[in-house]
Amino acid sequence: MSERFSELAWMLREMGIGPLWRRRNGQGGPTTDAIEGQAQAKAPHGVGVLPPARQAAPRGAHAPDAEAERAEAIDIAALDWAGLESAIRACRRCKLAATRTQAVPGVGDRKPSWFVLGEGPGEQEDQKGEPFVGPAGRLLDAMLAAVGKRRGEGVYITNVVKCRPPGNRNPEPDEIAACRPWLERQLALAAPRLILAVGKFAAQTALGREDTVAGLRARGGPCVLAGSTAPVAVTYHPSYLLRTPADKAKAWEDLQRALALTGGDSSGCTASPPQQD
Ligand code: SF4
Repeated sequence: MSERFSELAWMLREMGIGPLWRRRNGQGGPTTDAIEGQAQAKAPHGVGVLPPARQAAPRGAHAPDAEAERAEAIDIAALDWAGLESAIRACRRCKLAATRTQAVPGVGDRKPSWFVLGEGPGEQEDQKGEPFVGPAGRLLDAMLAAVGKRRGEGVYITNVVKCRPPGNRNPEPDEIAACRPWLERQLALAAPRLILAVGKFAAQTALGREDTVAGLRARGGPCVLAGSTAPVAVTYHPSYLLRTPADKAKAWEDLQRALALTGGDSSGCTASPPQQD
């Protein structure tokens, strides 16, 4: 059994999907080569990741008017990656600046095939300055790896809002609107082939439609943000999947759909009907 196959088995197991079947000579059709129970005990996390430099933003009240005016005067469309990340870290365009530890611009390949869009940094992300760390981040890595992707290699990861909403509450419409120009510039620079929106707010922002995740993942569509017209695939947020493991099977279907949109395959492997535990 190849090392690659064992690794993939672990990733699917992490997603709660299995057993895994190996196609016979690429002809499809499952063999009895199920490898449930032979997965690796531990998977790598964050391989290839270069965390952004930590720069704590000051806590406190909203920016003074002069500072806000300077921020508004930035020609965002002219920013390169370095300038954009620096501007995001200094941003005080919305009330989340007052409660964050630091802004979290994003991480990964700056010319990615996939652009993963989440909702907002959580507590650990706010502390580390990197999106999707902790258990949800490990699950996202496993989901990506299950379709041959790895953060930092062909994948860029960011959020709709770059600063943590207090208490992990949902981002509010004015915060999403204030942060949107940063996201649109990231998309313009990244020029991804696909946007994987994870969670309701990411999907609604990318698709410009109010709907449930279930409704949005069923239809997808082109991105409506100014920076990109790439197709948007929608799936559940890893934090939700950790609380609702039965829906990991649906996330696996979403990833397969996303992969098909970019013309890829998943190394000749298919999952058996998923467990609904
Ligand atoms: S969430 Fe976005 S708009 Fe609000 S302060 Fe942070 S970077 Fe600026």
